[in-house]
This record gives sequence, structure tokens and C-alpha cells, in this order.
Amino acid sequence: MEQGPSVQTKKRKSVQQPPNKESPSGVSKKQRKAAKGKGKVEPEQDKVKLPWPEYFDSLFKIYKALNTVVAFCSSRKHLAVTFPVVRSSVEALLKHPLELSKVAELKALLPDLIKFAYIPHDQLRINAETQAQEASRNMKSRDKSPDYSAFANSGSSQSTAPSTGTEDEHVLVLDFASNEKPKKTFSHDHPYASPPVLSPQAVKTLIEKRNERFILAVNELLHATSAADDPVLLLQSAARDHIPVDPNSPKSAAGEHKPDLSKVPEPKHRPTIESVIATIMLADWYKDQIAHRRIFDAKDGRLGTLEVPLSKTIEQALHDSRNITTLYTHQAVAINALRRGRNVIVSTSTASGKSVIYQVPVLTFLENDKVSTAIYIYPTKALAQDQRNALEQLLCACQGLEHIKVATYDGDTPKEARAGIRDTASVIFTNFDMIHASILPHEDTWRKFLKNLKLVAVDELHYYSNIFGSHVAQIMRRFRRVCAAVGNRRVQFVSCSATISHPRQHMKNIFGVDDIDVITDDGAPSGRKDFLVWNPPLVDEMDPSLGRHSSISEATTLMRFLMKRGVRTIMFCKIRKVCELAMKTLRTDLSSEGRLDVLERVMSYRGGYSPQDRRRIEHEAFSGHLLGIVATNALELGVDIGVLDAVIMLGFPFGIANLRQQAGRAGRRARDALAVMVADTLPLDQHYVDNPNELFDKSVEDLVVDLESKVVLEAHLQCAAFEMPLALEDEKYFGPLFKQICDTRLVKDKEGWYHTNPKYMPFPSKHISIRGIEEERYTIMEMTPSTRPGGVPVILEEIELSRALFEAYEGAVFLHQGLTFIVQEVSHDSKTAKIIRADVNWTTSPRDFTDINAVQTYRIREIKGSPHRAFYGRVEIKTTIYGYFKIRFGDTIQVLPSVDRYMHRRNKAILEAVDLETPPFDRETTGMWIDVPKKILDILRSKGIHAAEAIHSAEHAFLNRFALSADLKTECKIPQKEYMAKDSKRKRPGRLIFYDLAGHNGGIAAKAFDRVSEIMHDSFEAVESCDCADGCPACIRSSTCKEGNLVMSKIGAQIIIRGILGLPINIDAIPDPESPVETPQTIIEADNVRAVDGVEVEYWAS
Ligand SMILES: [Zn+2]
Ligand SMILES: [Zn+2]
Repeated sequence: MEQGPSVQTKKRKSVQQPPNKESPSGVSKKQRKAAKGKGKVEPEQDKVKLPWPEYFDSLFKIYKALNTVVAFCSSRKHLAVTFPVVRSSVEALLKHPLELSKVAELKALLPDLIKFAYIPHDQLRINAETQAQEASRNMKSRDKSPDYSAFANSGSSQSTAPSTGTEDEHVLVLDFASNEKPKKTFSHDHPYASPPVLSPQAVKTLIEKRNERFILAVNELLHATSAADDPVLLLQSAARDHIPVDPNSPKSAAGEHKPDLSKVPEPKHRPTIESVIATIMLADWYKDQIAHRRIFDAKDGRLGTLEVPLSKTIEQALHDSRNITTLYTHQAVAINALRRGRNVIVSTSTASGKSVIYQVPVLTFLENDKVSTAIYIYPTKALAQDQRNALEQLLCACQGLEHIKVATYDGDTPKEARAGIRDTASVIFTNFDMIHASILPHEDTWRKFLKNLKLVAVDELHYYSNIFGSHVAQIMRRFRRVCAAVGNRRVQFVSCSATISHPRQHMKNIFGVDDIDVITDDGAPSGRKDFLVWNPPLVDEMDPSLGRHSSISEATTLMRFLMKRGVRTIMFCKIRKVCELAMKTLRTDLSSEGRLDVLERVMSYRGGYSPQDRRRIEHEAFSGHLLGIVATNALELGVDIGVLDAVIMLGFPFGIANLRQQAGRAGRRARDALAVMVADTLPLDQHYVDNPNELFDKSVEDLVVDLESKVVLEAHLQCAAFEMPLALEDEKYFGPLFKQICDTRLVKDKEGWYHTNPKYMPFPSKHISIRGIEEERYTIMEMTPSTRPGGVPVILEEIELSRALFEAYEGAVFLHQGLTFIVQEVSHDSKTAKIIRADVNWTTSPRDFTDINAVQTYRIREIKGSPHRAFYGRVEIKTTIYGYFKIRFGDTIQVLPSVDRYMHRRNKAILEAVDLETPPFDRETTGMWIDVPKKILDILRSKGIHAAEAIHSAEHAFLNRFALSADLKTECKIPQKEYMAKDSKRKRPGRLIFYDLAGHNGGIAAKAFDRVSEIMHDSFEAVESCDCADGCPACIRSSTCKEGNLVMSKIGAQIIIRGILGLPINIDAIPDPESPVETPQTIIEADNVRAVDGVEVEYWAS
């Protein structure tokens, strides 16, 4: 079943001619014109039926008959609206047969309105029983309804008789969604609950309303269809995904073994993971995808004891509110250490029972001294909210502490409530942004709170690294200085984190404290866990050149298989687009299997959704209603979504630490769990398929906190001096660069105090954005009239400019919850994109390139031991979208980590190449670059090594050795551009270039520029000493490569690095090209970049 339908769909699709193949270009302009012209049509006018192609008129006839029959079936509550019942009545009205395909076309046109699917027979039965009860109560009123008894005669017996049908049986239902909720809601209510009994007049109105909906939908479709497209073909092709497949029919299983099709078992009755894996391996679609399996045995919990026992009150409260009577070793060790006045970091693989570690010490402090205060910091609002509720419950259960006030103090806290919180709250839930911009600058109003502060608990400490972590580290130094000034030198810090490489160092970096106890031994019990590395099978075993099956279809197949067996599964995707494509695939496959019961229990969750949507999904997940979540790493950060049984990682995540964290989201205590990494076809993923042990044994990447960034440090010294003038003794907080920066950047008075530089006044923290400048956002507005009651456009999402460029061009298919929309109009002035709902079976992939051009040199630096130089200066990021491909769903085999680019197996997946004429989008930033000497380019050419491969590999080798590379970007090379058969007009300079993310003021490129000699020499060592043959994550590959490491050459990187460092190159040792084929050159010698006046070379020694 799992693989069957999608394969079937593909087969069916491939026979059909893709729509509008004959007109490959010129679509966009016409479409744009059409969209603009029609944008002015008043919504009222849309209800008027315009002249339609004949096809739609005849489809309307069928729809009207169907509408009438269904409305009256629904009003006669003893009639279940099964397809057989409806069909015979409709046929009686139409006087000709009603074809399944016509119903599917209607469903494709009005996907949210029409329900057409198999549902388990017993669901219908339950429905019928409640209807029978109601029916007996309402006998009289029902008798008054019009007599359409003719409908009742056909098919009613098999669908309503309570006792027929086995558990396995499914019934095909054809119904309309409730009129009040036109959009699909994910409520717990029965999806097919009948609407309330309607008066004959109400039934008539309902029918009319639904007919109007049809007119609207057809008008919309005609509006949205470009002149080159045929709306009839579009609808018919979309309809193919809407023909329901009977789960019971042996044909629909498409060769798969007979699955259990009874309803999804309750999670507590789900099969064991071991037996699920055994079933997978017996399935017909199993083709040895499991490349590696590792079993982590179940572990018993170990209990610890407290050196100083808890008071009876706290003990009782823990028991009453959390049912806790014992503590695990790591909890006890942490609480003991805090009791002794130490700072504590708990770094364990699972998130087990850390809230107790934060809560118990605060209860004890409050018990001993009622004026004690505490601060809790969580990385997300949702987490903070959960934890606040938990703490309040605990306090309520604690005799004598019921009155203690807990408050949230964040950006959403109203100004007028803030003073009250300062004066009365004992515990606040806040974040570093508030400490930086609100608490510290107003330290005079917080003195009482800070004086009594006992504990600062920071959750998920690994979250704070790179630039953000570096800012947080300086904020904590300012914070400790202010606390000391109000006479409080006893504040303790406690943190939990995922497994990190140097927990003590990280804790010290962030808080600037010593006396740290590190706890890494997890005493919590854990269930058995299976970890699978899953490699999609070859498309054709006889012809490996055809590549492997798509990781999306493999991962969703697995996910469907698991969910149907009651295994609650989360799937992590690297980027939003993949998240939506996976959701779309699940949606298509589950509905064609007739498993709406499963479909309505799976959702996607990612950044960009409105906060309300996110809270709703979190709630549904937490309440146990959801069987599956498809998420980006927005969910990685410990948002508590309840118990999960399985994690599927679609592609190797952004690093080993991510992988372990994501894998850790499944499984708890006594239950067994499953983690699967479904490998992409990318070189990095395949590297881990070949070396799976690295996934488990390799140490995680180091977390970087840069305490010596002058940019960051100066910013916080300006803030600190505003809070209280700085004196030389403050060096103990801010380190060795303190005096130099104060002397040069701050203002010193006669007594020797340093004050904020006036240019930062009156409010220095306003000048410093600790998360980088927020990128501009584009609003995605849904304009579809039929799905917006009252005609109000709905804001569906907000997305960053850097994504909007690649996802919201005119004609693009935009995905949301796996549903497809088409972008009608984009305004860069108002920063909005208007989309309408359109059920299409293709997606779009932009044809684009981004040039990173150095435009002005600010600084020049010697590279140690080399005659060559490094440069720092202004850089222009020029993005050109010159068109897009329409790509059939299901033929996508890989989405690259760049925002929205696909690899597809063969060109036949491309339905159409559309040209766009949009001007390039320019942004400016700072960057550093090193030119590749001409001599080196010549060597590469003579040896048949692609210069773009060599440059790209050398760039990644450089980034791999640079600690802050997470915040530095490079110009990744795209295979479609570099391997074009014909000569391209786009020639790129032979140059390694790195740049700061536009809109971020981190100064990271400057940092790399300052350390260029060391980094280049480190990269040289790493690449030369690496044992791998063609490059690996240790030398030239990168999990963050926007283009999937597809344009790479290890030997090329070696030649370039040696060339730049001025080291000898043994030309004879480089193999000559196998055949002297001249591929078009894409790299030319780099031009000199104009320097600002008076620039002098900074020599290495200086
Ligand atoms: Zn290597
Ligand atoms: Zn790259």
C-alpha cells in the first residue's frame, strides 16, 4: 500500500501528454497582464457566470445534480451520503451515467468543499447510530421535509445497516464539507458528522450557495490560467490525484503485501519497533534500503539521593502536581551542586526531567527566603509558556508558596504591566533581548529584584553560539556587573543543553563564571532505540546512471507505513520547501489510498506560519491527536509536543549535533523508539551511508562563542557604560581588550571613568541588534474568494526577502500545508505576493543565479609567506531570476538546500520552461576575497580540471576551518551553470569570495580577513592530510553548501590553496586529462577591484 499509489499515479501521469507543451515561453507576460487586469474585478462580479468553455457548462450540470442530491440526502438523516446512494440518484436526474472521473474533476476544482474518499465502515456506523437516536426524537419535523424517497431506494441498505461490514471494510463517501467551515479544520469532531436538520427553505439556500461556489471556482480557474494553458487539461490532470482508491481492493495494493487496514491502533497498542522493522523488510517495496542499523539497548533509570533532603512541603508538592517521588542521578547531582553554591551545566542526550533541576532549587530558595527571585530563559515563547504553567502549578501545590507571583516579561508584555511585574513578581520568564534592551538599561528600577536574585536558569544552552552566542556572552557580563553593583555577588547559573563537545567551556564562555559542575551522566531510563540509515534504492539496478529514487518519496512512504500502525512520527526537513513537498506527497498518497483518517492527523509545521497556526498545531500534537508532523528544525528546540515514537530525518541535517538532537526527539522511558536518516543523493549524505559509524562516534561540532570580537565587545561596552560608568577594574568582566576599546571608543572623564560615546546616546542598546538586523519580510496574501468568507484576503505567511525572491515570483507554485497555490502578483513596493488556491500537479523551480561581486576594496592584507594578498571591502549580491521550470510532482528527486532549487532525473520531468523578465535584485554587504593567480588557472586548464570545481572546493575548505563559518557565506557553484554544454555569457572571476549575510552587521567577514593566513594554512593542512579520495566533510564538503556539493574537486582545491599560499606545485604529479575535451570555460581571471584612497597593505607581522 505504501508505495503503491504513488507509483500508480506516476504511471498514469506518464501516459498523458503534459499540458501546454507546445508553448514553452512567453507565458509570463500574458499571465501578468491577465492577473493585473483581473485584479480589479470586484468580488461581487465574480459571482456572475462568465462565458465558459463548454466543458465547464456540462460539468456544472453534473455538479448541480450532485449538489441537489447530496443536500437532500443530508437533510434526510437516515441516509448516509455514500457514493452508491448519491450516484444512482444523480444518474436518475441526469439521465446518463455518473463517472468517477467527473466526480474527481469536481473534487479537484473544489478540493476543500467536496469530500470524496473511502472511510472505514465502522466510522459510518457510529454516525448512523447517533443519527438513529436523533431521528427518533425529530421524527415529526423530519416528516415535513420534502419527499425524495426515490433516493432512499438505492444503496442505502449496505451503507446504513449497522451490522454489515467487517472492520476492514471501507465505504466510499461523497459529501460536501460543512458550509460554516469551508476550510478543512483539524478538529476532533467526526469528519463526516452530519449538519443539523435544515428546513426545506434552508436546504434550497444551501444548494444555491454551493452552486455559487462552483461558479466562483471556475471563474478563478479561468483567471489564473495563463493564455497558453488549457484550463480543461489542467483540471483533468489535477483530478487524477483525486480518484479515491479502495483500501480493500486487492488491485490498489499495487503488488504490496496485504497491509492491515483496520483503523489506526491506539498509540499504546502499537506494534513494537522491532516488529515494524521486520514487517518493512518483508514488504514488496523493500529493496534493501536499510544501509545500516544500530540498536541502542533499553536502559534502566538510576536513582540519586539529595545531600540535604527536601522539605516535606516541597516533597508533597512534587508528588501532588507532578507525581514525582524520586529523583534520577543527574537530577540529584545537579540539585546537590546548586545547593553547594556551584554553577551547573547538564549536558545529556535526551531532554529528561530538566525542569525539576530548574524548579526545585527555586522552591528551596523561596522557602528559605520569601523575597528571593529567579529568572528563567527559554529559547522560544512556546517553551517558556509551558514551563511557566508547570512552575505555577507546582507553587500552587506548595503550602506557603501559593501566593508567589510568576510572570512573563518579554516583548509582548504591555508597557503598563511592566512596572507591576518588577515590583511584585518573584520569578520572571524572559529572554536575552529583554535583559539587553529593557532590564539592564533600566537597572535602577530593577534593583530590588536583582539584589534578591538567586538563580538564573537558561535552557538549551547549545542554542547560544556564533554571533548570537557572542552577544549573549557579553550581555551576561553586563548583567553580572550590575548585580554585583547592587550588592549581589551570589547569583547562580544553571543550564541544560544537548550533548555538546565542551560543556564546561561553553558555560564559562556564556556566563563568564568559574565554579562549574558538569553533569553528563544521564540517570533517566530510556527505551530501546533503533537507528536506521536508509538509502533510497536505485531507479534501475541494471543502470545505476539513472540515480536513486527520491528521498521525499522514500521518507513519506516510510512515514505513511508507520502512522498507519499507530507509530507517532515526526519528519524533519532541512528547508521549508521540502517540508511542503513532503506534506503534499503525503496528502496525495493518503487520499488516493482512501486513508483520510490518517491524513487528517498529519500536519506540517515550520517557520513562516502565523503564531496562531503554530500554537494550534503544537496543541494538537501535544494532546495526542496528531499521528504525524512534518517539520523544519523550528521544532528542534524542545517545543514540547508530547510523546513521539519515531523520527525520520529527510536528508542529513546541518551537522552531527543537529542529527543527534533530532534523533533524540523520539522515545521516552519505557517505550521503544525509532530514528531513521533517509539519505539524499547528495555527496555528503552518501558519505554517511558509506561511513555510518561517523554518525554515532564522531564528536559533535564545537560551539563557537567569540569573546574577542571587537565589534561585539565595543557594542556592549557602550551599553555597559550607559548602565554604570566603566572603570579599569571592570576588565575582570570584559577581558584583555577592555582597556584598548575603552580608550579609543568611549569617553573618559577627569576621574578616569569611561562613558558611552555620545553617538550611541540616548539609548545605546537600540543601536545593537543581538540577533542581526531582521530581514525585510514579504506578506503572502491568499486571495481565493471561495475560501475567504466575507471576501477578506487572508495573510497566509510572512517570509524573508531572501526566500521571497526564490519562492514568490509570478507564476510560482507556492505550497502551504501541502496545498498548492499559484502566485498571481508580486509587488516589491508593498512587499506582498498575492496567491490563489489552485490544485495543480506541478511545482516550480526558479532558473536563477546569484553573482557575488567585489566592488570596492577597503583593506588589503598580506598572506603569510605568500606573494598574494587578501582583500576586504564592499560586496554586491546580485540575484537574477530569469525564469522557472514547471516540474511534475513525483519526478523531483532532490531539493537542494538552497532555497528552492530542484534536481530532476531527466528533462522529461520538466513540463515547461517559462521565461521571466524581472530585473536583478541587488543587495550590498561586506566581504573578503582572494584572487586565484592566473598561473594557477592555467595549470587547472592544462590538466582538464574545472576551475569552478576547484574554486568552490577551496572556498568550502576555507569555511570548514573557520570557526564562525555559520555566519559567513560564499558563492556556491551550481551544476546547471557550470556544466552547460554551450558557452555561457556569464563568466565569473577566478576568486575565492566570502561575504556577510546582507542585513546582518556581524562583521564576520572582517574577522575572517584578520585571520586569513591562519585559516588558509589550516585548510592546507586539512585538505592535504585527509585520507579521502574525492573529498569528505573533513576537508572540502559542507553540510551547508547551498548547491549540495555537486561542483567539487579535491585535487583542484589542493592546487588553488597551494597557489594562493605560494607553495610549490608538482605539475607532473597531477594526472593529465583522460581526453582533451574542451568544456566551455566559466571562470576568467579576476580583475583588480578599485580601492578606496590611501589603503595600505597590512603585513602579516603587524
Ligand atoms: Zn576529505
Ligand atoms: Zn557550496
